[in-house]
Amino acid sequence: MAITGRRAFLASTAVALARPAWAGGSERQVERVLTGLATSDGAGVRLHRVIGQPALRHLDPFVMLDRFHSRDPRDYQAGFPDHPHRGFETVTVMLEGHMRHRDSRGNAGLITGGGAQWMTAGRGIVHSEMPEQEHGLMSGFQLWVNLPAREKMSPQAYQDLAPARIAEERLGSSGSVLRVIAGRTLGITGPVRARPTEPLLLTARLEDDQPLALELPPGHTAFAFVATGEVAIGASNVPEGSLAVLGPGHRLRLRATNRRSEVLVAAGRPLHEPIVQRGPFVMNTEAEIERAIADYRAGVLDR
Ligand code: MN
Repeated sequence: MAITGRRAFLASTAVALARPAWAGGSERQVERVLTGLATSDGAGVRLHRVIGQPALRHLDPFVMLDRFHSRDPRDYQAGFPDHPHRGFETVTVMLEGHMRHRDSRGNAGLITGGGAQWMTAGRGIVHSEMPEQEHGLMSGFQLWVNLPAREKMSPQAYQDLAPARIAEERLGSSGSVLRVIAGRTLGITGPVRARPTEPLLLTARLEDDQPLALELPPGHTAFAFVATGEVAIGASNVPEGSLAVLGPGHRLRLRATNRRSEVLVAAGRPLHEPIVQRGPFVMNTEAEIERAIADYRAGVLDR
């Protein structure tokens, strides 16, 4: 699956010959690189807010990206006790660690390293997300994906994705691995059901410097977050702990520059609708936010 340097060279020179599907269209370049803002949320979980910070309020259709990564239990043990959501989807991607989830409608589940959870809050949910470990590394992401106006009050839904359910593809013989959670690229389809923003969400672990060329829907907003190592994207080198906001194009080329690297890639169809966010509520108007707060106070947010 990895495109070797020689094959890439041949593809670039033999332009008149039949080209593989991935070679069609333009390559996405990095438009902007930024790091997360150190903050805490929940009952005192230390994390980096990457999307949803003053420097990057939203990246339509993504309204938040948090990165958590710590071996110190004091950074994560407090967890996220009961709190509400309405109007969007929360996606948890666990790289390492264990997080227990429970909600006001009686659902519960354990999200483990290599697994994910796609939760559609829709009309509303009150839930907790608590670490189920007292030591060791906890590492992962929470991504908030907006819902279009017509689906903001849709019924709540979950997909708890155990590690074995993620679509995994080994790349070459180096041990590099592509894991697709949602959407489709290189003929690999993730397990998340069809969503209104047609998301592509994947992780790639690159063990050598062989480039990985992914197909991305050309009209989608897209970003890559380098969790470990350093990754060349188009003409830019993106360092560890950085978000690369990607420009338009059909393809994304990733290459670990000098050591083992791990990257989260997301793409989604922008909604181009007004966004009014107050904390855990993401709606289209102030009135809808006021309604969400009133419903939460009245204990009927999830009804
Ligand atoms: Mn939550």
